[in-house]
Amino acid sequence: MAHGSPEGDPQFSGGRDQSAGPEGGRAPELPEASKALAVDILVHGAQSRAQLAKKTGLSAPTLTRLVRPLLDAGVLVESDSIRGHGRGRSSVLLDVVDDDYRYVGVKLTSESIYAVLTNLRAEVLASRTLPTLSLDVPDVVSAVAGVVADLREGAGRAVWGVGVTVGGRVHDGETVADSPFLHWHDVPFRTMLAKRVGVPLFLANDVVGLTMAQQWFGYGRTCADFALLTVGAGVGYGLVIDHAIVPTLVSPVSHLPIDPHGPLCFAGHRGCMTAFVTSAAMADTVSLARGRRTSYDEVLELAEAGDPAASRVVTEAAHAVGRAAAAITSLTGVEHIILSGEGVRLLEIAPESLHAGRVEYAGGQASALDPVILSMDFLEWARGAAVVAIRASFPDTLPGPTP
Ligand SMILES: [Zn+2]
Repeated sequence: MAHGSPEGDPQFSGGRDQSAGPEGGRAPELPEASKALAVDILVHGAQSRAQLAKKTGLSAPTLTRLVRPLLDAGVLVESDSIRGHGRGRSSVLLDVVDDDYRYVGVKLTSESIYAVLTNLRAEVLASRTLPTLSLDVPDVVSAVAGVVADLREGAGRAVWGVGVTVGGRVHDGETVADSPFLHWHDVPFRTMLAKRVGVPLFLANDVVGLTMAQQWFGYGRTCADFALLTVGAGVGYGLVIDHAIVPTLVSPVSHLPIDPHGPLCFAGHRGCMTAFVTSAAMADTVSLARGRRTSYDEVLELAEAGDPAASRVVTEAAHAVGRAAAAITSLTGVEHIILSGEGVRLLEIAPESLHAGRVEYAGGQASALDPVILSMDFLEWARGAAVVAIRASFPDTLPGPTP
């Protein structure tokens, strides 16, 4: 999967041509330092000038100068009702009006289209799940345009951006270069869809979206460095170092070798991560052992009930995730690891195997920080897609001065 950073990575440059908001309004060019303050307030909540001065080391006059264009542009508001400690202007809290803005996030899978409507802080207000009836590109374009229109209709506010994510390589924020799940190659999906959706549209890899969501609105909010490892239909990997999303090569963890005696993956590797932990591979192994078709959810239920074949497969999968987490820490030095993805429940069933995998090559010593296991479903992927749109448009394209 192609990963990248929102700044400086061509994956995220797509869609910038449509930086005007839904009504064509556009905030005047904001200084970079002002934008950084706005992002800090969006991510960490309302803060006073005094708090911001302390945090950033900026002088009070500098802060006042940087905050003014944000107030003029309507990006920030001063709240009279909520006051911080102390008296005077420096203690008035500054905040975004997160409920004034709506975003839509859509995650495409081969089976379903997951869509959410959020506010500016990526809180989910409504959601839709519909079956992917066809993987033909024009059909998917129509289906996504339909669900976006549906969510916009009930939004009650203007929708400022739509983010769409897919598993696979996304090139330049424009093209789905390769998606093994959708069986698409070089599909100029953003442009095709943008013609049908009348708001700025952003396309990204699904794990990039999830990493962005974790960084601004999740566990990663308080970490300068963290890695995200997801398990489910695929194996995803996101890396943030010194607050920046690090672009990684295609599938650096998907086919990481775990055990030379392990099962085969679809690409012919023996004992890689995909062979051990993806939901289809685990279901196939258990189906073979039991002589009957067994779904991934059944595998987890059987493992919890003590079925030997299912328990072995789940135990080995958790062990493989532990080894991969240890490898990520060894290679990057990053100790904060978030384990997530729609298949993450396997780790809750076999925590001791996860731990065993982490300490195996670390001299019996796991890194000081236990990984954080975040339960999630497919709608969380859609929320990640909404965050792609939020991050691409905030604060530059919010409306001009409020009357
Ligand atoms: Zn493989």
